[in-house]
Amino acid sequence: GLCAHTGNAPMAGYACLPMMAQGELLGVLHLRTDLPGPLDASRRKLASALGEQVALSLANIRLKETLHRQAMHDPLTGLYNRRYLEDTLERELRRAVRKGAPVGILMLDLDHFKDYNDTHGHAAGDALLRAFGAHLLGSIRGEDFACRYGGEEFAIILPDVGLEKAVQRAEEIRQEARGIRVESGGQRLEAATVSIGVAALPTHGTTPETVLRAADAALYAAKAEGRDRVKAAPQT
Ligand code: GH3
Ligand code: MG
Ligand code: MG
Repeated sequence: GLCAHTGNAPMAGYACLPMMAQGELLGVLHLRTDLPGPLDASRRKLASALGEQVALSLANIRLKETLHRQAMHDPLTGLYNRRYLEDTLERELRRAVRKGAPVGILMLDLDHFKDYNDTHGHAAGDALLRAFGAHLLGSIRGEDFACRYGGEEFAIILPDVGLEKAVQRAEEIRQEARGIRVESGGQRLEAATVSIGVAALPTHGTTPETVLRAADAALYAAKAEGRDRVKAAPQT
């Protein structure tokens, strides 16, 4: 039979091979030859072997891409995961030291999130984490990195942004997060507030450990002062 996509009956032989891998149709391989008449048995066999090889290769590439994405991303929010952030921070700080440029670090933690789960349910908590992740993605520039650090904790790397500007960005993120609404169980819920600790290279050090520790200490101070606020790490 003729395939619809060949249009008018082709003058020369052709073969259309569904490319299947693990029971899934990945595409169709269309082969044509200038030889007149239909393909003979040996050419059909060759075409089919080629189709199988291409399908396998495509499936392999896809699997690799999936694994690569999973290795870097948090499945719930789609943000980078902690491992990726730590690798990136190391690289960005080294680059910044070389360039003599600043880097801002934000550590964010949703306030009383345990209560949020207890009040609205775990599914609502998950929906808020997703919405908050989307909010962060919408708030950063292309060169920034947003990550889910763990649980209800997030981190943002801001290349070329010094402490003062990083505090401003954190303040915008905090205020705009108030507008987040999530749908859960047919209800429209308000978001939890967020506390943010801010540190920067070179103000608080030049290694991932020192800068992260400073941002973490600032976050802890923001919590202690009553939450729903931005605190910069002290400049010593
Ligand atoms: P604080 O203002 O001091 O940060 O209080 P908190 O309640 O946010 O902090 P705590 O560390 O006591 O609780 C964190 C909660 O986050 C507890 C845990 O069940 C919840 N949590 C962590 N990961 C997830 C998740 O993936 N989904 C949901 N729904 N909840 C999560
Ligand atoms: Mg919290
Ligand atoms: Mg926490």
